[in-house]
Amino acid sequence: MSTFQAPKGTYDLLPPNSATYLAVREAIAAPLRNSGYGYVETPGFENVELFARGVGESTDIVTKEMYAFETKGGDRLALRPEGTASVLRAALEANLHKAGNLPVKLWYSGSYYRYERPQKGRYRHFSQVGAEAIGAEDPALDAELIILANDAYRSLGLRNFRILLNSLGDQECRPVYRAALQDFLRGLDLDEDTLRRAEINPLRVLDDKRDAVQKQLVGAPLLRDYLCDACKAYHEEVRELLNAEGVVYEDDPKLVRGLDYYTRTTFEFVHDGLGSQSAVGGGGRYDGLSEMIGGPALPSVGWALGVDRTVLALEAEGVALDIPSATSVFAVPLGEEARRVLFRVVTELRRGGVATDFSYGGKGLKGAMKNANRSGARLTIVAGERDLADGVVQLKDMESGDQVAVPVAEVVEAVRARLV
Ligand code: AMP
Repeated sequence: MSTFQAPKGTYDLLPPNSATYLAVREAIAAPLRNSGYGYVETPGFENVELFARGVGESTDIVTKEMYAFETKGGDRLALRPEGTASVLRAALEANLHKAGNLPVKLWYSGSYYRYERPQKGRYRHFSQVGAEAIGAEDPALDAELIILANDAYRSLGLRNFRILLNSLGDQECRPVYRAALQDFLRGLDLDEDTLRRAEINPLRVLDDKRDAVQKQLVGAPLLRDYLCDACKAYHEEVRELLNAEGVVYEDDPKLVRGLDYYTRTTFEFVHDGLGSQSAVGGGGRYDGLSEMIGGPALPSVGWALGVDRTVLALEAEGVALDIPSATSVFAVPLGEEARRVLFRVVTELRRGGVATDFSYGGKGLKGAMKNANRSGARLTIVAGERDLADGVVQLKDMESGDQVAVPVAEVVEAVRARLV
């Protein structure tokens, strides 16, 4: 061990488990690529104000969890705690919305940072794959995104997850509801912090995980009873589109989520095998966010799925992904000349697209074969001085154990023929 360890709340992805993370990212991205979403990558940090305004001044993310700092040049920056605000900022900055092709559909994959209390499934550095559809108000877009996340999870083999669905209304109906909820909350026996929250952001109180608070919220007014006709119709259409596709979801009138920018459709994917950190992904519509960060009105919808928790969900369900071995061929040279000859063979195989590895460090046959076994290779090429004197190498099938001598000049072809 070195003097240093990974910082608290973080962990390293290492082989062989890291292959599962790559496969999860790929499985989430595949349906997006297949549905008109283009890849976007933004910096790991942004002007802190972007998140303060975008995610919301009163959210836990902004008040407690942001890694904010001042640079030597005096800029106030923050490591990104989420993806949506950055992606929207990037799209606006590049004027993607003016190209006359709305919605702008983008997907991303990357690291996010929140100074949270670490526990299983909750880290200070975590990984998300996300999707945003910017600049269109169409229930089919909301439904599309929910279906794509659902398909991604199913393609991974996950089954024990549920989709929670709600509408948070819009600027017309939410203020009326907000006032009604505030009235209700003021009458409860709540601690000072929670009462303050009720004044700044009462909807967030609905999300309070404490039993003592939840018990008092039993008779709370629900947004669904306050939705205006336009929001009601919009939500009904999202539900119908999902129903038509056979996507099973639960209406959850108390679902609010931890970010302030959501309007109308809001959803969360929860997994029942994960204990308290059960949300594997979530998202919704954020029709007002563009204006909040100084852009034009651009109704939009998106989601982010957590890669770390998706991997934990796979473990919880006992799903092992079918990840093919990275190495197909392993070359074992015995002696200097063999090293030169096989190194050329290895390079040629690699250039021809065959995943090949080599025994380095002048190992003897026993040690090298151990490495070959561990690599998962289907074929091993072994060459010693006597083989080379005869102009051949030994090609061994690792599964059957069969071994044949093949002329050096023909080994690449012989490997190819056996791998098809
Ligand atoms: P959010 O941006 O809070 O809506 O989170 C979207 C998804 O990212 C969640 O459902 C989690 O899967 C994942 N996520 C959020 N925060 C963390 C964290 N601290 N550690 C691990 N995963 C997280």
